[in-house]
Amino acid sequence: MLSSKENSYIKKEEKFCSNTYHPLPVVLSRGKGVFVWDVHGKKYFDFLSSYSAVNQGHCNRKILNAFLKQSKKLTLTSRAFYNSELGDSLEYITSVFGYDKMLPMNSGAEAVEAALKICRKWGYEVKKVAKNKAKIIVCNGNFHGRTTTVISFSSSKESKENFGPLTVGFEIIEYNNIQKLNEAFKADKNIVGFLVEPIQGEGGVVVPDEGYLMKSKKLCEKYNVLFIADEIQTGICRTGKLLACHHEEVRPDIVILGKALSGGFYPVSGVLADSKIMGVLKVGQHGSTFGGNPLGAVVAKESIKFALNKNLSNNATTMGNLFRDNLEKLRSKHKLIKKIRGKGLLNAIVLDCSETSKIPWELSLKMRNNGVLAKPTQGNKIRFAPPLIINKKQILKAIKLIDTSFSEL
Ligand SMILES: *Cc1c(COP(=O)(O)O)cnc(C)c1O
Repeated sequence: MLSSKENSYIKKEEKFCSNTYHPLPVVLSRGKGVFVWDVHGKKYFDFLSSYSAVNQGHCNRKILNAFLKQSKKLTLTSRAFYNSELGDSLEYITSVFGYDKMLPMNSGAEAVEAALKICRKWGYEVKKVAKNKAKIIVCNGNFHGRTTTVISFSSSKESKENFGPLTVGFEIIEYNNIQKLNEAFKADKNIVGFLVEPIQGEGGVVVPDEGYLMKSKKLCEKYNVLFIADEIQTGICRTGKLLACHHEEVRPDIVILGKALSGGFYPVSGVLADSKIMGVLKVGQHGSTFGGNPLGAVVAKESIKFALNKNLSNNATTMGNLFRDNLEKLRSKHKLIKKIRGKGLLNAIVLDCSETSKIPWELSLKMRNNGVLAKPTQGNKIRFAPPLIINKKQILKAIKLIDTSFSEL
């Protein structure tokens, strides 16, 4: 049951905010590390991490200090002028990821948009595709954001219905199907890009077969198509590697970062590519008032530094294995748990119920009562993605709370 205090927060938000989300009924006012607290001071494990934007933990001290220091000096110049932080930040980030250049943007969807523009332009100017014929292949079940072009190639009906006319030039093929990709490439010489999530996060934590990414990359090379990895959710150590593509030693032509590049502080996203690709963008051909601002530059640098210094990839691997092993034990106990899947600390339980069942929501409410925040995605899957700084004791405690929640259903 919610208190009248909680109800008043919820009512106000529902009254004055556009109603595009269906939040779990919990009102948060504080966060630290892997925990968040509600307005009554009740403590919860955050097993969503703002869709993997707070991999480094809530109100991370190191990032906070850099943020505070920079916010007292200079926050925004626009790129009409140079600033003292952007060069250093991008030198560091590009060297960590191994690319010549980064285009700094703000939100994830914006970075996806920018990557698509770069890819199309490369198609016309380098690959020499006929004017306005460029096509980009995407996957069924994808999630790349909410802009008009990006929803144009969504396979979810509610994401695109009545938002038309939609942007053309995209073809949706089955995810994790290398044959279909080959057929698509063979059928159309105007294909310039393949946009793919190494693991589909919003799609319900769908992990493709081992080898899929490498085989896709090889096909892209064969057909002179850019391999564009949307690592907005999977990147920055979430799956146990700096990039999820690194599990298969794939080096994408274009990498899209967002979410945890911000450390949860301040929206920062980016597109990484080498000069021969990024170079198609010339003065006046792309821009963003906030993109590349000194505050965002400092935040992004510290966010990556923290992830590397604390070896969050290693921790995501060990804690992820521990988490899945223990969920497997729960599976033999609770018939409702059909399947456990994921990599590193990006995981999901597939429940043995229909996608329209009320059970996943009920389970999330039980978990909330017991102190674990996680939400259903794609109906009958519950995603579990805690901050990557979580330790063994905390994982085992959370498992206990999840176990109790299943028992109470
Ligand atoms: C969240 C997400 C996006 C969109 O990011 P926003 O910051 O919400 O615009 C794009 N792609 C993937 C894979 C994501 O998880």
